[in-house]
Amino acid sequence: MKRRKYLPIVSCVLFVGCGAATPELQLIEDAAEAMGSLRAVSETTGVVLEGSGRTYRVGQNQTPRADLPYYEIENYRLQLDFANQRWQLRQDRTTTFLTGSPLFGVRQTYGLDGGVAYDEGDGGMVQASDRVAAERWAELYHNPLGIVLLGLDETSTASNLREEDGEQAVDIVAANGTQFTLYVDGETLHPSRVASARYDSMLGDVTYETIFEDYAESGGLGGFQARLTLPRQYTINLGGDTIAEYRVTSDTQAQIGDLSVSAEPASDEVMVEAEEVADGVWHLKGGSHHSALIEFDEFLALIEAPQSEARTLAVIEHARGLQPDKPLQYVVNTHHHFDHSAGIRAAVSEGLTVITHEINQTFFEDLVARQHTIEQDALARNPQPLAIETVVGDDVYELSSGRRTLEISRIVGDRHSDGIVMAYLRRERILFEVDAFSPGASASPFAAALLENIQEKRLRINTIVPLHGPGVATLDDLEEIVEREGR
Ligand SMILES: [Zn+2]
Repeated sequence: MKRRKYLPIVSCVLFVGCGAATPELQLIEDAAEAMGSLRAVSETTGVVLEGSGRTYRVGQNQTPRADLPYYEIENYRLQLDFANQRWQLRQDRTTTFLTGSPLFGVRQTYGLDGGVAYDEGDGGMVQASDRVAAERWAELYHNPLGIVLLGLDETSTASNLREEDGEQAVDIVAANGTQFTLYVDGETLHPSRVASARYDSMLGDVTYETIFEDYAESGGLGGFQARLTLPRQYTINLGGDTIAEYRVTSDTQAQIGDLSVSAEPASDEVMVEAEEVADGVWHLKGGSHHSALIEFDEFLALIEAPQSEARTLAVIEHARGLQPDKPLQYVVNTHHHFDHSAGIRAAVSEGLTVITHEINQTFFEDLVARQHTIEQDALARNPQPLAIETVVGDDVYELSSGRRTLEISRIVGDRHSDGIVMAYLRRERILFEVDAFSPGASASPFAAALLENIQEKRLRINTIVPLHGPGVATLDDLEEIVEREGR
């Protein structure tokens, strides 16, 4: 990506009284004046924001419509280097919800260096995808200084000045074609929010929006040469849901470090390894999220389409290869959480019927109906109607053909998800489950509920096939975990 220097209209900065060329530019200049002065804003090359906040876990709620769980964020430090088109965020996260992998003050670092997005991994910085890089480039301008600088840049265009609900709005298109809408408060003339379009592989075409509130004079260490008035509260929304909120206690222009990084390219290889657990029953592993394949007399059924389109299509291809004479007809979805449902659109595009708990039905109807025009995924390229079967209440849904029956039922009382199901092959004494019991997890807060369901239903189990963890387990393994963690 080409680096650009911001070249505001210098003549207007130097000669007071010179009006802006268009009403749109006038609004952007007014917003700069409201933040301190046009000159001070124009001379800004970067800013460091520090504070605390919350980040929300999209797609990990108890039911598809419930509030999102969140991490408490401390030591938030966001460095924005507008001049070099770089930024870096580091923050410490603490889990506030029940999970098998709780975090306490765990540091997270990620950012953008020009055209490269990166995330800190165990062994250093790992490069993220081009799509993430484009999103993070846009995030540089989801800041009142950033968007005003972009609007003043002579390579950008500003158009379509309008009024919306007491706010003035203007569209700003950057040289690379990315479009932003800047909203300016009708009274204070402070930037009130910035919105841009984003593609999300689950949600499709969505609006990414940052709201700026509680403007106050900046007074952090180092300070701006001229004092600027900047927001104290940042709220980030994705597709209408709040995904992060930060309270800024310090913003300075003081020494932004060199934010250039060297990042290792990430491997995008998808591995699928099949392990035959019993005759016609396979554990499809190879990632952090596994699937299972069950052969019936007349068809094949998959349990779980997790993680991504790429993973699910690879799992489907592998499954078909294992038993090419029978049609792959069903996919059982254990629960709506995005990491376990991210392949459902791909599975629908391959003609599979989804079996899930009725609690998740409208979620999947919405998921399949969503617009994916910014990027076209497998379902957008090959539209198919949603075929869905549901497990009703606490009833058992039976999928059967020939001598084999798969009993699918809700894990009652599981605080991980209200609509989570397990699947059981009674004759073979095999139980399939996910997130309730994951061998090797650092915590197992949902294992006791699973064991209670097994005991209540008097299920006889020789093998548990968990869809997380190193491999199959036994009922003894589950009992041992519950014993250790207490009920
Ligand atoms: Zn889950």
